[in-house]
Amino acid sequence: MPEAPKKTVNGGTDYSLTEKNKRTLQFIEDVTTNPDEVQKRVLAEILSRSAGVEYLGRHGLNGHTDRDTFKKLVPVIKYEDIQPDITRIANGDKSPILCSHPISEFLTSSGTSGGERKLMPTIEEELGRRSLLYSLLMPVMNQFVPGLDKGKGMYFLFIKSEAKTPGGLVARPVLTSFYKSNHFKERPYDPYTNYTSPNETILCPDSYQSMYSQMLCGLCQNKDVLRVGAVFASGFIRAIRFLEKHWPLLCSDIRNGSLNPQITDPSVREAVMRVLRPDPGLADFIESECGRQIWQGIITRLWPNTKYVDVIVTGTMSQYIPTLDYYSNGLPLVCTMYASSECYFGVNLNPLCKPSEVSYTLIPTMAYFEFLPVHRNNGVTNSITVPKSLNEKEQQELVDLVDVKLGQEYELVVTTYAGLYRYRVGDVLRVAGFKNKAPQFNFICRKNVVLSIDSDKTDEVELQNAVRNAVNHLMPFDATLTEYTSYADTSTIPGHYVLFWELYVNGSTPIPPSIFEDCCLTIEESLNSVYRQGRVSDKSIGPLEIKIVENGTFDKLMDYAISLGASINQYKTPRCVKFKPIVELLNSRVVCSYFSPKCPKWAPGHNQWNNPN
Ligand code: AMP
Repeated sequence: MPEAPKKTVNGGTDYSLTEKNKRTLQFIEDVTTNPDEVQKRVLAEILSRSAGVEYLGRHGLNGHTDRDTFKKLVPVIKYEDIQPDITRIANGDKSPILCSHPISEFLTSSGTSGGERKLMPTIEEELGRRSLLYSLLMPVMNQFVPGLDKGKGMYFLFIKSEAKTPGGLVARPVLTSFYKSNHFKERPYDPYTNYTSPNETILCPDSYQSMYSQMLCGLCQNKDVLRVGAVFASGFIRAIRFLEKHWPLLCSDIRNGSLNPQITDPSVREAVMRVLRPDPGLADFIESECGRQIWQGIITRLWPNTKYVDVIVTGTMSQYIPTLDYYSNGLPLVCTMYASSECYFGVNLNPLCKPSEVSYTLIPTMAYFEFLPVHRNNGVTNSITVPKSLNEKEQQELVDLVDVKLGQEYELVVTTYAGLYRYRVGDVLRVAGFKNKAPQFNFICRKNVVLSIDSDKTDEVELQNAVRNAVNHLMPFDATLTEYTSYADTSTIPGHYVLFWELYVNGSTPIPPSIFEDCCLTIEESLNSVYRQGRVSDKSIGPLEIKIVENGTFDKLMDYAISLGASINQYKTPRCVKFKPIVELLNSRVVCSYFSPKCPKWAPGHNQWNNPN
């Protein structure tokens, strides 16, 4: 992820880059040396500011700012517990419900509740905190890859659509909010925030024009590029896929030094024309590279000075590592930070490590962090048991940042400056080590999520409901679904959901393909709004596929799991499969397959707001 501009810390006098980097690294040293002190101060600061807010009053905090009282009185919650408060704010109640500072906007999380994106309140000053976290990235990186100030970063960054709540607050994803803020748009010149994409191309709401113009500018400046990336691995692969499809047009624009008429946004045209020059030599070079059958190493071929690929490949994004390795000829894949709409959490202090070893150091000034121990099932599904609501005993199990134990897994719980108190983020982390006294965490998984291609996160219950809706189409044929499982297929670009279905057909009328296609579409219509947005607007998810498997396939699957040590008594069909031999087993028994014939319905905003835009 790219870093934000640094503010000069000494009231305007500029330091040399080396001096700035040194100060940043010193900041990291300081906060990781005394994390408990910092956390205590952060909590006291949040609670003293919020002393008068309705939510804390409801729990009887009465202005207390100490940890013990806070932990005794304030419950550990999930989104649904504060949804009524969020709805009041969204509807225009400006009283201090959660936070004493005015809520400036809602950040729409990729986590969902009731099929809609969660709305995270935020306040103006949080932008500063996010900028601070970004500003740590390059000084850290510079220790491992010096000289990055001598060239540019080619990052594919995008904004997404936004909506207004009935009370008039903007609701949009956190990165859209950040790119549209002056912290990003008006950043002073900094060699580390020197990107090939002009701001106008990033801020273009049309995803085709945005991608095209960013790719064009990246190609035009190919020799200057020292690092490439996107936020998530899926986004970067989409950019490469875009290049595969559109290189002839891109080359023609580079050859002529003019922009084709499909790019209609005037500000994008103007910005691109500041970069684009007729360059037949470059056009020939790109044509010959892209025209080769094999795209292995295309990144290092077209952008020969690239030192690393900056994308998140931890969590579900790890499924893209082989594809990235292929396109980049094994360049280092660098995961720099860990963040969410609720709060930006931490940075990777050892960015050149292997993706499987990435750990994030939570920066103790960002929020007050607590950790709920997680106890895993050892079953085949490898699912995680986390109770829906915590009882008193479980609430007492939460530990502070400095009290986590090496090797133990925890669910992250945050208290933020923007009005979330003891909020369960839904991520499971494992303690991998320590930087001074601050723990470093591997990202393990998002709780309960079974399928994810891009920023979509589909859980087992959503999948189950969607499948239940779809099988209604089979009833007239006297057919029932006996077993199913699912798989995130990332061998296609974009990736897509695959469902393996085993049927019991009693009727004699054959089931026509259109019925299965209807099943595909019904599943898509039933999935949450982040999935549907990925299908419709971002085009980051391909059409859902149902693969019908031979009768007896799921028995074979069980036999296989048992041969691997699963207990017969406890065996449950996994609702999602990842393990390659299992996917191969299922694929070897596919009788026919069907795709969703069109996109499901999706509009920006929440269903109940009724305000597309
Ligand atoms: P959002 O809900 O859209 O704000 O996305 C935030 C979520 O994305 C986090 O709670 C994580 O589940 C995931 N995420 C963010 N950064 C990382 C990372 N570096 N590695 C793995 N997952 C991440």
